Amino acid sequence: MTCILIMGPPGSGKGTQAGDIAARHGVAAISTGDIFRAHVDADTPLGHTAREYMEAGEYVPDSVTIDMLRDRVDRPDCEHGFVLDGFPRTIAQVGALDELLAATGHELRAVIALDVERSELVDRLVRRAATEGRADDTEDVIRRRLELYADETDPLLAEYESRDALVRLDGSGTPAEVAERVAEALAVRA
Ligand code: AMP
Repeated sequence: MTCILIMGPPGSGKGTQAGDIAARHGVAAISTGDIFRAHVDADTPLGHTAREYMEAGEYVPDSVTIDMLRDRVDRPDCEHGFVLDGFPRTIAQVGALDELLAATGHELRAVIALDVERSELVDRLVRRAATEGRADDTEDVIRRRLELYADETDPLLAEYESRDALVRLDGSGTPAEVAERVAEALAVRA
């Protein structure tokens, strides 16, 4: 019945940590980026819409993204709660999530923001480009994604801070080290 958000710039380890929390708490992990990539791979109409934005490092329009998330949260595996990785990214998405949580009876338990220095982010993204071959992990697109995060998404943290929901954590180090910090922070907020 709770929702946990993992926020942070591209390369900060959101997906890894969302998966870890979901496994520990027995809830669903939802990555809007993964859902979009699955649609691109399956060549669906949604994939066609999303692809050009993703390859340019731009955000997929709010209306498309919000409808997709609503459908995903409707699925039975979200009944006991879910961890969101990569949503919300805009102020409109913050409002849509508030409405969705109110309508489904979920409570926002915590917003975990992972802080990682820019040079480490770029290193991680370049390494990921080599191993995963993501179309949006090229140098120009990485720069645009980091810029868009700073302009559009980082300011949203202030909103969650004003609600006393924000937990800022050091996202540097190994995934296991970060997972330990996240687990400790969530234990305090249980
Ligand atoms: P991610 O895997 O979270 O880095 O997302 C990859 C790409 O998917 C982003 O660069 C956007 O193009 C798109 N995307 C994922 N989540 C969102 C969102 N909440 N709003 C808009 N676009 C998104």
